[in-house]
Amino acid sequence: MSNRDEFSKKTKEAVALRANHHCSFRNCPQPTSGPSDESPQGVNMIGKAAHIHAAASGPGARRYLASMTHNERTHITNAIWLCATHADLIDRDEVTYTADVLRAMKSEHEAKCAERQRNALSAGEPSPDLIAIGPDIVFVGKFLGVEGEVWSFHLQSFIGGDVHTLITFADCYDKTATSDRFVLVNELGDGRALRAKPSVTRETTGGYTVRCPVFPSAERISAADIPKSWALSDSHDLMTNNGNWTMVSGVDALPQQLKTCLSHQKGESPLHRDFGTRFAEYYNLLSGSLWLDRYLNLEVIRQASIPYIDPTNNQQYTPLLCVERVFAIKILSDTPTKNWLPIRVDLSVKGLGRWQHDLSVCIPQEPIRRWSFDELLSGPFVRG
Ligand SMILES: [Zn+2]
Repeated sequence: MSNRDEFSKKTKEAVALRANHHCSFRNCPQPTSGPSDESPQGVNMIGKAAHIHAAASGPGARRYLASMTHNERTHITNAIWLCATHADLIDRDEVTYTADVLRAMKSEHEAKCAERQRNALSAGEPSPDLIAIGPDIVFVGKFLGVEGEVWSFHLQSFIGGDVHTLITFADCYDKTATSDRFVLVNELGDGRALRAKPSVTRETTGGYTVRCPVFPSAERISAADIPKSWALSDSHDLMTNNGNWTMVSGVDALPQQLKTCLSHQKGESPLHRDFGTRFAEYYNLLSGSLWLDRYLNLEVIRQASIPYIDPTNNQQYTPLLCVERVFAIKILSDTPTKNWLPIRVDLSVKGLGRWQHDLSVCIPQEPIRRWSFDELLSGPFVRG
């Protein structure tokens, strides 16, 4: 086994995305395709997530720092997206290309990318809409329509995963967890649980056509029927009134229902491993880029439209209970305050219609804690 601290596939995809698939080297005109070891395209198009501090010690290792941990060396902050030529260049000359020089180059390029996207948005240029199939495939494409119970898409380009990921997802569909069988469409603000594996056809004009057999829209409850729970204050504590806990239900409970649900990170609860969002994961990889809003949008659609099956009682419900459509999720500040990230949600809520609200969601800064077997045995655990 190699003892090089390589970046994960997700980290490589994120660093490419943050750089808008363009070499980060100052004034390099080179557009790149996806991460090199997964890309079938021509050599000069290939991009690379290069290490700022080398992945391993030894001859040829540049800017290697023995004091770094595995996590630090494989973290996205240690990666810079470059074309093949510049990836080679920085690994031949660590005197010119010090870690600080590379970090400055990276942040300058990323800031330019975000600025360009922001200008395009304010000029009214259409922003590419994202579509997700399962947890590892995200692409830019167009919703073609519904026929019978099949949703069809034109897949233009991959953002997360690649055509092999998609074909593997279809081939191994029967072994895929029920909670991972879904399709989410930002353009529609809606998603569906998959009924059968998707089919993929390569188009002669470029891209692919993907057909997803889906289940009918999941049942939602009316906002007025949100069950009673403990009221939470703005400081995220339980609220009391004359020494008694305050209860809240129905429409009044909607903001905190959203906040609690979206703040729950997937994998956080040992009894409900599939419950929760990937907000923290996406925040850590994409914060500061305009892709983050769109990824969070997909996650809110998943919470709104894909039923969760509670393993403790086999009941099925959509985590956001009464949200029928997601129009937009907007991040209101780039930096969380004490781990709370302010966002604006624009939704369609059953029984209420269009509903906009500002709220904060918790983004843990530390990696999500993994529970040990002993901790699991010594419970008790309450779902957050
Ligand atoms: Zn370059």
